Amino acid sequence: MRTSILCVVLVAGVAALPGCAARHPASTTPPAAAEAGAGAGSDSGGAAGALGPASLAAWWDAHHVSLPPAPLVTHDDVVAAAERAVDAAAGRVAREVVGRSVEGRDLLHLTVGRGPTHVLLWSQMHGDEPSATPAIFDLLEWIRRERETAAVQRLEDRLTVHLVPMLNPDGAQRYTRRNAQGIDINRDALHLQTPEGRALKALRDRLQPVLGFNLHNQNGQTSAGSPPRPATISLLAVAHDAARSDSPRRTLAKQTAALVRQALEPLIPGQVGRYSDEFEVRAFGDNIGRWGTAVVLIESGPLSGADADGALVRLNFVALVTALDGLASGRTAAHPIAAYDTLPLNESNLLSIRVRNATIAPGTGVAPFVGDIGVNTSRALVGGDGPRRLQVASRIADLGDLRVFGALEDIDATGLTATPAFDDAAREGDLVRMPDWSVWKGATITVGQPGALFLLVPARTGTRPDSATASPLSESWRLVRRIQPGGPRP
Ligand SMILES: [Zn+2]
Repeated sequence: MRTSILCVVLVAGVAALPGCAARHPASTTPPAAAEAGAGAGSDSGGAAGALGPASLAAWWDAHHVSLPPAPLVTHDDVVAAAERAVDAAAGRVAREVVGRSVEGRDLLHLTVGRGPTHVLLWSQMHGDEPSATPAIFDLLEWIRRERETAAVQRLEDRLTVHLVPMLNPDGAQRYTRRNAQGIDINRDALHLQTPEGRALKALRDRLQPVLGFNLHNQNGQTSAGSPPRPATISLLAVAHDAARSDSPRRTLAKQTAALVRQALEPLIPGQVGRYSDEFEVRAFGDNIGRWGTAVVLIESGPLSGADADGALVRLNFVALVTALDGLASGRTAAHPIAAYDTLPLNESNLLSIRVRNATIAPGTGVAPFVGDIGVNTSRALVGGDGPRRLQVASRIADLGDLRVFGALEDIDATGLTATPAFDDAAREGDLVRMPDWSVWKGATITVGQPGALFLLVPARTGTRPDSATASPLSESWRLVRRIQPGGPRP
């Protein structure tokens, strides 16, 4: 997450190819608004055209580059994908190595386009924030496949797009935020003690991009709006001073973010948020803004569904194509910033799972009570040098009246009894017998405990204890739902 800035840097005025390492006078203005009409045809521009969000999402479904799920993409995958992109582009994509990570992995810089306006995009400065990395290769594939269209020809004529996929490959290898020195690269813009940070700074200084895109993922509890919705994508026109001053370059960033919001809203209604614009003196996005490049931060966030990782890549792809086409067509410069200013601010009111209105038998020995249970999940990489896979961990984050929260999965447990998952072998539909909670030593329903839960109903309607000494919880129950985040549904 940003705690940093997600920037796509558009560099103006750089020569087309990586060979353009030589400094070119930076143009300080993006293509003029006067050209805004250029994108109005069916081939580009408006929401209904080939560059509309639905069309771009469908394009992605049909043609995206085949890579592992984003969190499992390795530096080797990135190197191979870059090689394929360069080979397939027949001279239209250039590649250079702009540095090496602490552990010696190449930091790649890919360039496409030959226009005077330079844009710089970097992804995965935080190793466990991967969603934009595959989208960078999908963007290159879109440019290659659609090269005969007016939209791509305009983009290549007017822009030079610089792409740094996976700026923190050592962190990505471990699926951790920090680099191999243990430094958060996005707090190293001033000290420049990380080779990855030095490479990014040197590239920006060489290219002097007009616009930058800083591409991150944010916390799974990030919400936007009221009632809270998942902040699946959050945007920020990065401030370049503590006063959060407006300037032509910050306006360009806001216009770009406004355009991106309007492209994404139809795909994820109500799920686009605005990241805090507080100036972080050590962060790259903020400093790249200070150094003269407009910066847009794009944060990918929580999303429900079986293929949320893929869907986030697709949203990044739609955002990037929209932003670049807006800049190349001149639409960005003519675009009002209202759609940015009215974005709901990021908050932290999202649960992974909310079990609502259950009768909670917490396993602690206290009497059952009615309430909601909030569960959050996180993912870690396991496998070391063997096959890599993600392991989901869950914990109970809150308990009681949780009506003010949103949830990726909301389970109405009215009339059901919630307990800790007390029987590993039990399957949904099975009859189970509750443990004697007064001597129970296993997990409980309390904050910090695992999120594995049972939802139960009495096995026979009207079951009641026969005597004053029997507890209803000693009766026979039927397992209606087993909640086991990250595990298979039995
Ligand atoms: Zn980040």
